[in-house]
Amino acid sequence: MIQLKLNSKPGSPLRVLCLGSHSDDIEIGCGGTILRLVAESPGCVFHWVVFSACGVRGPEARRGAELFTKGAVLEGPVIKEFRDGFLPFVGADVKSVFEELKAVSPDVVFTHYRKDAHQDHRLLSELAWNTFRNHLILEYEIPKYDGDMGQPNVFAPLDTTVCHSKARHIVEVFESQRSKPWFEESTFLSLMRLRGMECNAPSGYAEAFYCRKLVL
Ligand SMILES: [Zn+2]
Repeated sequence: MIQLKLNSKPGSPLRVLCLGSHSDDIEIGCGGTILRLVAESPGCVFHWVVFSACGVRGPEARRGAELFTKGAVLEGPVIKEFRDGFLPFVGADVKSVFEELKAVSPDVVFTHYRKDAHQDHRLLSELAWNTFRNHLILEYEIPKYDGDMGQPNVFAPLDTTVCHSKARHIVEVFESQRSKPWFEESTFLSLMRLRGMECNAPSGYAEAFYCRKLVL
């Protein structure tokens, strides 16, 4: 299969906007792809926004952003303290954050899947499309109790070492989440292994996204 690359505009670094509802979403959804972009796109600039990171989750979000973008340029991270689970009910305030993000002109936006079962995730996806109307948007997936795994259609093959780094970083950084029985490296590796199978990744591992609009 022909492989498309994420290229920046000539003469400027690749600009990536990462949007996450909660402090570990970006890392779980596209952490491997971010690590790959850092290695493949020198000077890559990451704009990083987490909407709900209260208490200890704030420093964890910051540490995650710094760790995953190490070696690239990190703008922010912008860390908000909206209440977990309540984003749709303070939608006007969340929308105001997106209005400020219009100043960023990203080459690619990573956000949640539009049909994600979590209401906070869905709102961010909706507002991303509402705000960035002429941009490439890739929607990432988050495994969860609700069981909403779907059929993503864009795949980013990843080296085995990148996948293991991603899974290890997540469990190390987000200490507050370790009490959840599913919050362990094997969960993240398993999903990447399945997506790697689906795209015939050389290493066997990949992350996957939903792309609803792509211009060739
Ligand atoms: Zn989340």
